[in-house]
Amino acid sequence: MQNDSRINQIFEQVVRRNPGETEFHQAVKEVIESLGPVLHKHPQYAEHKIIERICEPERQIIFRVPWVDDRGEVQINRGFRVQFNSALGPYKGGLRFHPSVYLGIIKFLGFEQTFKNAITGMPIGGAKGGSDFDPKGRSDAEVMRFCQSFILELHRHLGEYTDVPAGDIGVGAREIGYLFGQYKRIVNRYESGVITGKSPQWGGALVRREATGYGCVYFVDEMLKVRDQSIDGMSCVVSGSGNVAIYAIEKLQQLGAQVVACSDSNGVIHDPHGIRLDAVKRLKEVERRRIRDYAAEHRDARYIEGGSVWDIPCQVALPCATQNELDERAARTLLANGCIAVAEGANMPSTPGAVKLFHDAGIAFGPGKAANAGGVSTSALEMQQNASRDAWTFEFTEQRLNEIMRNVHRDCYETAAEYGNSGNYVIGANIAGFIRVAEAMLAFGVI
Ligand code: GLU
Repeated sequence: MQNDSRINQIFEQVVRRNPGETEFHQAVKEVIESLGPVLHKHPQYAEHKIIERICEPERQIIFRVPWVDDRGEVQINRGFRVQFNSALGPYKGGLRFHPSVYLGIIKFLGFEQTFKNAITGMPIGGAKGGSDFDPKGRSDAEVMRFCQSFILELHRHLGEYTDVPAGDIGVGAREIGYLFGQYKRIVNRYESGVITGKSPQWGGALVRREATGYGCVYFVDEMLKVRDQSIDGMSCVVSGSGNVAIYAIEKLQQLGAQVVACSDSNGVIHDPHGIRLDAVKRLKEVERRRIRDYAAEHRDARYIEGGSVWDIPCQVALPCATQNELDERAARTLLANGCIAVAEGANMPSTPGAVKLFHDAGIAFGPGKAANAGGVSTSALEMQQNASRDAWTFEFTEQRLNEIMRNVHRDCYETAAEYGNSGNYVIGANIAGFIRVAEAMLAFGVI
């Protein structure tokens, strides 16, 4: 059978078996469309049905999460963990707490995670989990009770050699603390390596908090170097104002770039003299407020309720908020305004139409599974420190992160060239990640 028609058939089968899960379909399509030349070069992957097997999660867990709110009312949420692939190591990937969460979101994230984790070169498989619980507006006590109920059910599926969650949207240091505390109590073991993103005061790695944002900026810097350009002096916009966005802005500023805009789900802040990061950190990390309050404190800044951050002219754009936040219209605006590089700090933030426009225009485009791999790489470094009961310095850990991101960039770049698509990091990342997972699966036989 021709490879292209084989791939079409696999995709149709995925759509049939996973009805209504549009984000999962989108993520699968983007990866398997890259794989035609791989099947041509390695016919054994088709013979052993590696793509078909990779598209089916190894295990999916869905559970009830009952808890009691501050008014004494019983609340019920739904919990998920999709253990996608363990060919390269224990399942690894974050937990997302957001009202938009359903099985299709967790599956797309788990699928992406499998390839992302493979590209890092670290010994980790792929998974994702979470809940439709919305931490926004909830008290600390409510978040704690929710986390305790969530982990009471999920703990039986976790373990430092089995499945190692971390944070994602809506799951930060506070939630990781509650989850780990309850896990430790249930199993009666101080199993540090069961979860990452812990506070450095009790087993976490320095740089983990900064890692996704920093890593994304290192990746852009590498893409620009290939083009004999530098991030120094570039004007940038970053979407979001959560953990990824904040530390992307921090690293951009350290490297001499000017960040003129960021956002949250309500609106956009445009500060032409440069975003004052200490104010964003205080508003978002300490006071848990909305980004609109930044404009009240900074007279030169403008707040645009319901606006699009992609309308603000820039040379470098980093989507660091959520899936499908950058569509074709936004891509056209960015290109018309002279944008030369886009790197995804979030997971799948650009729609397929937007990615096509970036490729057609020949600008540098770094897909999430390569550009945001710094977070999970540093989680793997945290597991390494936990396993050896060690704690590394900030400088040493950041150095490791920097090396990993440079290697990720080089692998994607070289793989794209090897398969006849120089400069296409989407194809490079998909093929490099796929081959690592596929080789391990072949070695294990039919499992
Ligand atoms: N949620 C993050 C990601 O999308 C981090 C996962 C982890 O550290 O395990 O890669």
